[in-house]
Amino acid sequence: MTTWHQRAADLRLPTRPVLGGRPVEPLTDATFSTVNPRDGSVLTQLPACGADDVDRAVGLARAAFEDGRWRDLAPAERGRILRRFAEVVEAHADELALLETLDTGKPIGDTTAVDAPGAANNLRWYGEAADKVYGEVAPTGPDALATITREPVGVVAAIVPWNYPMIIATWKLGPALAAGNSVIVKPAEQSPLATLRLAELALEAGLPEGVLSVLPGEGATGAALAEHPDVDKITFTGSTATGRKVLAAAAGSNLKGVSLELGGKSPQVVLADAPDLDAAAETIAWGIFYNQGQTCHAGSRLVVDDRVADQVLAKIAEVARELTPGDPLDGDTQLGALVSAEQLSRVTGYLDAAAGQGAEVVLGGGVPDPSPVADGCYLEPTVIDRAPEDAAVVREEIFGPVLVVQRFDGSESEAVRLANATEYGLAGAVWTADHGRAERIAAGIRAGVVYVNCFDVGDLTVPHGGFKASGFGGRDKSLHAIEQYTELKTTWRQR
Ligand code: NDP
Repeated sequence: MTTWHQRAADLRLPTRPVLGGRPVEPLTDATFSTVNPRDGSVLTQLPACGADDVDRAVGLARAAFEDGRWRDLAPAERGRILRRFAEVVEAHADELALLETLDTGKPIGDTTAVDAPGAANNLRWYGEAADKVYGEVAPTGPDALATITREPVGVVAAIVPWNYPMIIATWKLGPALAAGNSVIVKPAEQSPLATLRLAELALEAGLPEGVLSVLPGEGATGAALAEHPDVDKITFTGSTATGRKVLAAAAGSNLKGVSLELGGKSPQVVLADAPDLDAAAETIAWGIFYNQGQTCHAGSRLVVDDRVADQVLAKIAEVARELTPGDPLDGDTQLGALVSAEQLSRVTGYLDAAAGQGAEVVLGGGVPDPSPVADGCYLEPTVIDRAPEDAAVVREEIFGPVLVVQRFDGSESEAVRLANATEYGLAGAVWTADHGRAERIAAGIRAGVVYVNCFDVGDLTVPHGGFKASGFGGRDKSLHAIEQYTELKTTWRQR
């Protein structure tokens, strides 16, 4: 049987921007390397698309939008093509999963079971939704008939990060395309490969030429999209710092619409009466260590009643010890590589600074020796205990497999206060057998999602996005996502 290692060696890697569905020569001479964090090797060189490439892609997207080749199709027909796109993604699932693993260091078991099927599911769900979005008739008086309809915004630029490249791209592509827009995707420089391939597959599935482009590049490519006067909408997922820049660029150009899905520092609040502490601890461990901790809504803070803290931590340590980092191309690996050497050093920088901030690394914290693969970017699952509230490890998004523990005295109000004491508000969880307390704490946590006695479960039917510095201007997932990509239009008829 062919192993993933052999298949990786035989894989064709995208090397050019995909414009309107077809790989083309870039206008820029600048290039960047995409690096495999599994072993630090260079996978390929890609063009770092510049302002001219952005102009060309926007022109193509605008032309496709204006001539109606996509937006004027019946919604049912757009839906049929999106569902076909999902089927083509499924037919290429192994290839896409492998590209994603090579780019990001995610275990191949995850990209085959979660990322590739997740991308297909996202496209299918919005394909099914395309002809189920109705307009409204306004309750005017009898002298008028006013209808309120949704129209596509036009040219959408989706700027996406490296932690779930295909899933996040399709959270945006699904609703934006279902609504009839043209879309340009700017993947993160660490992870462009699977997304470039997706754009080719869209054409194969019947998406009209010109409607979807993918521009590889660095931050400057994203900035050129955010500043472009003929882009109507930016949908962005990434860090809060870059989100602020995108917002400023949009404000300084054509006041394009902006939706931001940003960072998190999500609390797992555990009360002493949590129904099954061992099961809770196991879920909490997976809630931070999955995807090497590089998940925007990861449960990265454990806010735990001091009376049960040691018990919960002992169980988390048990799970963590089983999660030894391994080769991402090995089908049994559960914890892969971090996305880049830069990200690894960012995370270890937080760990090095923790002691000086009064916190204590009580588990992990080391780069495994020997490394699962030489020169790769690996880190043991890590727990930091007794971190003071003002420590950077408590307040800032580390984005690695690092759980930070804050103990409290068991009071409900203190739990809520600590849960809310960062600038973020993406997710949270409460673990208790008392339904009343669960409801009160869930209501008190200022976040886009709060889990009760569970974590990181759910499906596409619910929105994803944050309060406070975690987000702004709309939601991914669910039918609410379509609001991001449509304008409301009133047509008033006087009788
Ligand atoms: P960024 O926010 O910088 O990157 C997200 C996307 O924005 C990438 O496609 C990036 O391109 C692009 N970008 C960068 N600069 C600009 C700009 N000025 N205008 C428009 N687009 C731009 O995240 P990083 O990759 O630097 O990660 C840093 C930290 O951000 C992480 O450690 C983590 O804390 C957080 N993060 C949070 C995510 C989340 O889901 N909430 C996801 C990823 C990161 P390019 O990659 O080429 O620079």
